[in-house]
Amino acid sequence: ALARAARPGRYRLGVMGGTFDPIHHGHLVAASEVAAKFALDEVVFVPTGVPWQKRDRGVSAAEDRYLMTVIATASNPRFTVSRVDIDRPGDTFTVDTLRDLRAARGPDTDLFFITGADAVRQILTWRGAEDLFGLAHFVGVTRPGVPMTADDLAHLPPGSVTLLEVPALAISSTACRDRVMARQPIWYLVPDGIVQYIAKRGLYPPYDSKAPNDR
Ligand code: ATP
Ligand code: MG
Repeated sequence: ALARAARPGRYRLGVMGGTFDPIHHGHLVAASEVAAKFALDEVVFVPTGVPWQKRDRGVSAAEDRYLMTVIATASNPRFTVSRVDIDRPGDTFTVDTLRDLRAARGPDTDLFFITGADAVRQILTWRGAEDLFGLAHFVGVTRPGVPMTADDLAHLPPGSVTLLEVPALAISSTACRDRVMARQPIWYLVPDGIVQYIAKRGLYPPYDSKAPNDR
């Protein structure tokens, strides 16, 4: 039904925003599933600049997060990566992401912003929330550990958000970082190239490799 609703002559662009520190299979499955269900022509992954909600912890360099996103998506012909958020100075706000992509892709493109259940609940607290729903259709995907029901959407403009159940992968970037720091494997939680990139760049150093007063 979602695919049949596609309007002829219009390009359907999914937008997957995230910190991607690191990108993992939960992100990739969510994007793939939305792409199939919504008949998207492309999904563009957009690593954030300075994540204003995540100032309290050190976030990896934008260039490392960008390169990991490129590595993880390279094999999928419908997946691409955009630098709009990491190249824009200052904090990242989704309303700016969507405005920049709309300007870059032109008027024949429909945007579908893909977001996990945890983020859907916060949408109304985002800057420019009044404008967000005019820029894109929102697709809220299920995420293990985050209950989401139609009631959560009751206060959002009718028809502006679609909930979609995706294959459940209980993976988070936080858990992946914690595992690397604890010297536990992250094989099969993230693409192989990401395991290798993290090791090569020494991201998320194990606790015992840091000076004692760094802990
Ligand atoms: P962190 O633990 O650092 O917050 P994360 O795993 O939540 O990382 P983000 O980069 O914050 O990853 O997430 C980007 C988007 O992907 C968000 O909309 C988030 O809800 C969604 N997402 C992340 N992991 C999953 C998952 N396992 N299943 C479905 N959606 C997910
Ligand atoms: Mg998150």
